[in-house]
Amino acid sequence: MTLAWRRRAAGAALLAALASAGPVAAAAAEPRAVVFDGAAALRHVERLVAIGPRPAGSPASGQARKYIAEELRRVGARVEVQSFDAETPHGRLAMANVVGVLPGRRAEAILIGGHYDTKWFRDVRFVGANDGGSSGGFLLELARRLAAGPREYTYWIVFFDGEEARETWTARDSLYGSRRMAGELQRTNRLPRAVIVVDMIGDRHLNIRPEALSTAWLTEAIWASARRLGYQAHFLPDPQVVEDDHAPFLRAGVPATLLIDFDYPPWHTADDTLDQVSARSLQIVGEVLLQALPAIEERLGASGGGTRR
Ligand SMILES: [Zn+2]
Repeated sequence: MTLAWRRRAAGAALLAALASAGPVAAAAAEPRAVVFDGAAALRHVERLVAIGPRPAGSPASGQARKYIAEELRRVGARVEVQSFDAETPHGRLAMANVVGVLPGRRAEAILIGGHYDTKWFRDVRFVGANDGGSSGGFLLELARRLAAGPREYTYWIVFFDGEEARETWTARDSLYGSRRMAGELQRTNRLPRAVIVVDMIGDRHLNIRPEALSTAWLTEAIWASARRLGYQAHFLPDPQVVEDDHAPFLRAGVPATLLIDFDYPPWHTADDTLDQVSARSLQIVGEVLLQALPAIEERLGASGGGTRR
């Protein structure tokens, strides 16, 4: 579960910022090179779903982790499996975040992540094609694409474990992997310069809204990219509040944002299956994110190494 609470009317300031950000440039969009292969991302989603339900701490979760690590190594990323024990309402569970490191000219890192666990249900066979599957598949294709080019910043492609609550979403029963990682990085003074989290971005009816508590400039950089590419039909202006794996980093003072399509009727039901997920949606999000990165890197460069906001 990722929705902590939701206020349709929230984020008026962000909405105003988005509205004043400049003219819609759909007609003037640059020619679209294929920069992200949505079909390849979907094939990864299919492999993950084929494993079956993948709740944190399960053998199937370990299988998903093995697949992710192998695919990251295949594209040349250095892989770190960061194991930890989490105290949950179901007792202590072994979890692990997986990090694909793509070194850049700078050691400073931009973290792009999402969760790979699926929500545990007692009675429902929940395979999480969109919720847990789409983020995993998307990030593997993104890693392939980012590994191919020269990089100014170091990229951490992070697959968070234990995003889902075991029972009811609370501060202690949710976001196990991202809370763990943000805490550890803060403690050792190694926080990234920016964090972008994706979740449920494979819905074939793609409607992504700005997350109202996220860092405004970072969100706007992505929505500006969507406008340049003519994807306003999928990147809507109306903000919402959603707690997800970006939240522990926001609380640690790191600029962070979330891309999520929460307009998804099969959410946390047995109907969150592969037929709900489309290569096209994954492709759109991939293009938008990749197109946004130069502006994000420029902004980080301008704000200097010591400034986190
Ligand atoms: Zn969920």
